[in-house]
Amino acid sequence: MVKNLIILGPPGAGKGTQAVKIADSVGVQHLSTGDLLRDAVGKGTELGNKAKDFMKQGLLVPDEVILGMISDKLSEPIASGWILDGFPRTLKQAEALSRLLKEKDIELNKVILIDVASKILVKRLTGRRVCTNCGAIYNIVEIDKNTQKCDKCGGEIIARNDDKEETVRRRLEVYFEQTTPVIDFYSKSKGLLISVDGDRSIDDITSEIMEGLS
Ligand code: AMP
Repeated sequence: MVKNLIILGPPGAGKGTQAVKIADSVGVQHLSTGDLLRDAVGKGTELGNKAKDFMKQGLLVPDEVILGMISDKLSEPIASGWILDGFPRTLKQAEALSRLLKEKDIELNKVILIDVASKILVKRLTGRRVCTNCGAIYNIVEIDKNTQKCDKCGGEIIARNDDKEETVRRRLEVYFEQTTPVIDFYSKSKGLLISVDGDRSIDDITSEIMEGLS
């Protein structure tokens, strides 16, 4: 049975959307480092204060900060399993995760990579809107023009402050420089990495991922 998963891909590939759907279908916990950090920034915690400026500029939060946060999260066993979304993002994070899992005798079952061309990503990210209440993700064209509210919970919908075009371009550069080595790292383990084309409908992508997991 697949229990412990990672979802990788460039910003805007649809990792968050797919991670929620997969977590639901497989019955695992969704752990998004971006969501955890945004929550910490919103609450003004020490972690949030350390992360805030990096996030605003589209840069990665330092490895030590992220690794502290993840090892806290995984310190208690999560019986249902998990899907890590947005982590690891550097080779150092991937290596540290491998050590942590080994220490705890936890097996990583699959790494899902959603692949999308950069020019599509810029368009998607600058049009992305999120619900401040439940985190639902929309594209600007999908929002109800009359209410301008979230269809799911009625919450307020906003653009993330790192989804401005200049910041988006920086986040993509950071991804290609610092996160693509993580893909190579996992591709060395036979049968671990599933790669799917992310330039299709949300449901088609989910189906292909679910096939790869079964
Ligand atoms: P995301 O929601 O995954 O796009 O993450 C938003 C921002 O949070 C990123 O642009 C980084 O500034 C920060 N972040 C999230 N996950 C990580 C990570 N694993 N390592 C470093 N920074 C991260």
